[in-house]
Amino acid sequence: MAIKTLEELFVHELGDIYDAEHQFLEAQQKMRKQASSKTIITMLEKHIVETEQQIKNLEQVFKALSEKPEREKCQGAAGLVAEGNKMLKETADNPELADFAMAGAMVKVEHYEIPAYEGLIIGAEKMKQKEIVKLLKENLKQEQQTAKKVAATLPKLLEEAMTSESSSAASA
Ligand code: FE
Ligand code: FE
Repeated sequence: MAIKTLEELFVHELGDIYDAEHQFLEAQQKMRKQASSKTIITMLEKHIVETEQQIKNLEQVFKALSEKPEREKCQGAAGLVAEGNKMLKETADNPELADFAMAGAMVKVEHYEIPAYEGLIIGAEKMKQKEIVKLLKENLKQEQQTAKKVAATLPKLLEEAMTSESSSAASA
């Protein structure tokens, strides 16, 4: 269907991130099952709760526009999730390496979400939809904070992966 107005484009993009959030929620739940480091488990558990709230916020946004919440298949998210799943499989025998890889995947996801929300916020501001701007900014802030927090754990997780690698090499 051709998109003709800013509002139509906005609703399309909204459906896109709405679908992405569902995909990322499922992916995080999956990672949570495989994660072993306390650092990553804590971050995942917090962001799983936040993601559930983000989905509710998006439903509020649809409502404010008198639209039914509808998922628009997000190929970008699907690609990130597929890569993440492949990586989970390939690191299944090495928990430290898996944790480090999971944190890397999380950072990528957050950096995919950030511009999606920034774009929607610009659109909502143009449409003078104050309540929508507020809801979307809540989501954006959580993504930014998560990106920062997870990125900050990467050196430590890398260190742990390297330590386990050298100890397993020594025992081999
Ligand atoms: Fe999100
Ligand atoms: Fe996120």
